[in-house]
Amino acid sequence: MRTRAAIVGGGITGLAAATWLRRDHGVDDVVVLEASDRAGGKVRTELDAGYTLEWGPQGFLDNAPDTLELAHLSGLGDALVRADEAAADRFILRGGRLRRVATSPLAFMASDILPVAGRLRLLGEPFARRRPDHDETVFDFARRRIGGRAAEVLVDAMVTGVFAGDSRQLSLAATFPRMAAMEAEHGSLTRAMFAKMREARRAGKKSGGPSGPGGTLTTFDNGMERLPGRLAERLGECLRLEQPVRALRREGSGFILTTEAGELAAESVILTLPADGTARLLAGPAPAAVAPLEGIPTVPIAVVMLGYKDAGVFDRPVRGFGFLVPRGEEPGLLGTLYCHDIFPGQAPSGSLFLRVMVGGARSPEAAALDDDALLAQVRDALGRVLGADPEPDKVWIVRWERGISQYTVGHLGRVAAAEKAADAAGIELAGSPYRGVSVNDCIKQARAAATRVAQRLRR
Ligand SMILES: Cc1cc2nc3c(=O)[nH]c(=O)nc-3n(C[C@H](O)[C@H](O)[C@H](O)COP(=O)(O)OP(=O)(O)OC[C@H]3O[C@@H](n4cnc5c(N)ncnc54)[C@H](O)[C@@H]3O)c2cc1C
Repeated sequence: MRTRAAIVGGGITGLAAATWLRRDHGVDDVVVLEASDRAGGKVRTELDAGYTLEWGPQGFLDNAPDTLELAHLSGLGDALVRADEAAADRFILRGGRLRRVATSPLAFMASDILPVAGRLRLLGEPFARRRPDHDETVFDFARRRIGGRAAEVLVDAMVTGVFAGDSRQLSLAATFPRMAAMEAEHGSLTRAMFAKMREARRAGKKSGGPSGPGGTLTTFDNGMERLPGRLAERLGECLRLEQPVRALRREGSGFILTTEAGELAAESVILTLPADGTARLLAGPAPAAVAPLEGIPTVPIAVVMLGYKDAGVFDRPVRGFGFLVPRGEEPGLLGTLYCHDIFPGQAPSGSLFLRVMVGGARSPEAAALDDDALLAQVRDALGRVLGADPEPDKVWIVRWERGISQYTVGHLGRVAAAEKAADAAGIELAGSPYRGVSVNDCIKQARAAATRVAQRLRR
């Protein structure tokens, strides 16, 4: 068997890379090798009793042109579903109480999201110490610019929400490059924010509503798996399921990939696996990539989804987008999405549908609890936050052992070293271990990798 481009891994990155190779560069002779019996990797949806169960991503922000283009060219333009206005309010747990995150600077200063001293400290942001020369943690950056309290509450919650990570370990430059750029460009986040607001006003965009920073959470009718499902369908025979790649070696100007079904010869290769699997495959052709890749950890995460037929079962309101939990608050929870308000079509009408995240860098052991213990922990914590512990009518639990890649301090250096070694061996790397874990970032990386492969093939 021979192919021009072999793509290892049939998650959203691998499927998108194959699609971009065909679409952008006319390279049709592509093979995607996927270890499991289904395409999509972490993007997985199941439908049960009127609930849309997302195993992995709940959605993507609609500000990424590559993702929207992929959706449209897959014929899913009409299936896009944006978060409902009902999900406009977001909350953070502080001092055991849910506090609304205000969207305008004035409302923020008047809110109780931080104690008064913490809010006043924000006013000193433009006068913060200059950034150090070394790679800074997200926490240190936030403490330096907006003060310790805001770093502990707001920024820790944000890092938990995106990476299920520890803000004291993650690299600012790798996890929130835009924030690092805002500081570099404007010298202050406040000045950058006002510049952005002026720009948005000029462009006639309104703020507020369910839009988070930079976009509105978006999914597809019947869930996120519609996208990988459609890409897989269009790839047809090019996608080979249940074909784990066991070894990769160079042969002549190309490569040999070993699977259980035999050997596949390829002129070029894109690896889209988690970092540990990539390190194993590169041990032969690019040994210098192994150590940097082994330095990219993942954290486990458990997703507990609970359905309640009666929307009035909790004592406190369960309306809005959901809440995030900074370190030191409820240790059993990372956050909870109110899916019934975010995407009302994903739950039976009149019901509540909660999606609770557990584990992450903060409490990896919690993600490994057995179902009964995990559910008891979640119900206990929800009881304290929402004021009652009603029996859920439905419960679904999903675990990801290698949940989310962690971009710890020095990450960008490790990525550069791994990419350099892989590149010297003629191999491309793309996906969540490298330059963004979001679906949007994975699709963008897939497109860039497809372009590099097309250039190699032309050479
Ligand atoms: C619980 C959770 C919630 C999330 N929520 C969001 C969200 O709301 N929004 C968002 O944008 N992102 C979210 N993410 C992140 C996002 O879903 C992932 O980063 C992204 O889907 C990763 O895609 P990928 O293709 O790079 O990797 P994966 O999805 O991990 O795909 C890798 C594929 O490689 C296959 N594979 C492994 N080894 C081999 C081998 N040897 N040979 C062949 N195939 C192999 C695997 O089976 C898998 O299918 C979430 C992630 C999790 C876990």
